[in-house]
Amino acid sequence: QSQELSQVRIDYHAALLALQEQGTRMVCTGKMHTDRICRFDYLCYCTEAEEFVFFHSNASVMLPNLGPRRFQPALLDLSSVEDHNTQYFNFLELPAAALKFMPKPVFVPDVTLILNRFNPDNLMHIFHDDLLPIFYTMQQYSDLDDEARLVFMEGWGEGVHFDLYRLLSSKQPLLKEQLKNFGKLMCFTRSYVGLSKMTTWYQYGFVQPQGPKANILVSGNEIRQFASIMMERMNISAGEKTEEDDYIVVFSRSTNRLILNEAELILALAQEFQMRTITVSLDEQSFASIIQIISGASMLVSMHGAQLITSMFLPRGAAVIELFPYAVNPEHYTPYKTLASLPGMDLQYVAWRNTIGENSVAYPDRPWDQGGIAHLEKEEQDRIMASKEVPRHLCCRNPEWLFRIYQDTVVDVPSFLDVLRESLKGKPSLKKTKATSTVHPGRVREPKCQTSVQATNEAKLTVSWQIPWNLKYLKVREVKYEVWIQEQGENTYMPYILPHQNYTFSENIKPFTTYLVWVRCIFNKNLLGPFADVLLCKT
Ligand code: UDP
Repeated sequence: QSQELSQVRIDYHAALLALQEQGTRMVCTGKMHTDRICRFDYLCYCTEAEEFVFFHSNASVMLPNLGPRRFQPALLDLSSVEDHNTQYFNFLELPAAALKFMPKPVFVPDVTLILNRFNPDNLMHIFHDDLLPIFYTMQQYSDLDDEARLVFMEGWGEGVHFDLYRLLSSKQPLLKEQLKNFGKLMCFTRSYVGLSKMTTWYQYGFVQPQGPKANILVSGNEIRQFASIMMERMNISAGEKTEEDDYIVVFSRSTNRLILNEAELILALAQEFQMRTITVSLDEQSFASIIQIISGASMLVSMHGAQLITSMFLPRGAAVIELFPYAVNPEHYTPYKTLASLPGMDLQYVAWRNTIGENSVAYPDRPWDQGGIAHLEKEEQDRIMASKEVPRHLCCRNPEWLFRIYQDTVVDVPSFLDVLRESLKGKPSLKKTKATSTVHPGRVREPKCQTSVQATNEAKLTVSWQIPWNLKYLKVREVKYEVWIQEQGENTYMPYILPHQNYTFSENIKPFTTYLVWVRCIFNKNLLGPFADVLLCKT
């Protein structure tokens, strides 16, 4: 391993001199530890102490310079999971002069991204917490290119999907455990520490029950671009599709949370949609071969579980059907629904839930982490067994939740098909679905109002405007305008949707009154433009 690092030759003497004289330099973005990413020159890591080290010299820079607030609670989150107390980053400080008494540093010449993977044993976590955030953090800093070195500090082994992490850069990612092999003191010539949280859409329920993040900042566009680059790097071609080879994929689990009548379900799907229906399973196929299949599918059917993250590889227009075991409310566990519903993902999402207790097989005697409840008081076991729905709960060890989610299910085919017939809009075979436009209108231009008083109790207000500047370059299916009228001093307003560029209001318009009027343009019902400057209109 140490050979690998020294392949890139660096002038050891110059590097050592720079470290001794310049010390460590840090400049960060972000106001809070939860939105901070730091760039370092000469950040070091002591493998014996398992601590990062910041060397102070006259030329050191530490921005932000937080003083002891650096520990309240930390400088930054090392994983993309917000404010998790096992994922904090900080460093120790030493004077650069101490280097004289320390082991000779080994320099890492590559530009390095240092982070924690959150749960590299679980596919959902791998994509949502690690791969997407790493990919887009690398896009944010131009020197984190294809040659960048990734260093995973969470302390886990490679995990079964390490190949996916290898796709992010041409260099082998390093694990915390391997750093020891390089020496006692490693110094990263240039490194970035932390991950962008911009692409995450789900919070796992550490402080409040799980659900979509409050302020989602990613759209289907970024997810799909990431997915298509990952496919390229896995040498998967999204082949040309024809109507005839429409097919449905059932993603099956083979160790737990089983569909007990898979054959029956497959037959029902094939008959109902007149489509070929195939199963895939992580225990039998490579990840890449599964993605190849999913990327051409019209429908993906699966029990709730991490394998559903692969729905990001479905073509636009496809449908995701998520099955939930008995007593699990689909509305309470929505990582895949939220993904499918991101604007621009262009996926249909349908949840089905087993409501028939007899169709469920539970495993009270398994270990607790596979849903066993034998370790609980008898009374508590009885309560769980009798309960018809798991109440909302926090992550991650709620026994009732684990008990229910690890049940196997006989899918009741009539109720399953009913849900599909009710919820699916059209045949989900729309591989030709084009990305819908996400271009927003500009402001309407030259908004004006004219008023007239007809009688002591009758007045008119005419509002007119010009089209937004970008509209003349666009083909928009439907252009509408929204006008808000508020009587000055009142705290309510009347909204109107209008098809043309002017309108005369006479209802509810009083003489000798001042109105505030806002106008904005709307494309295709939901692409809202900004309001023009407010108009002051006196009748
Ligand atoms: N897994 C699998 N086959 C199975 C059960 C699980 O491939 O029969 C995978 C699953 O996709 C995930 C990991 O094992 O990546 C952990 O599964 P777990 O049930 O703990 O998590 P969940 O799927 O509920 O997120």
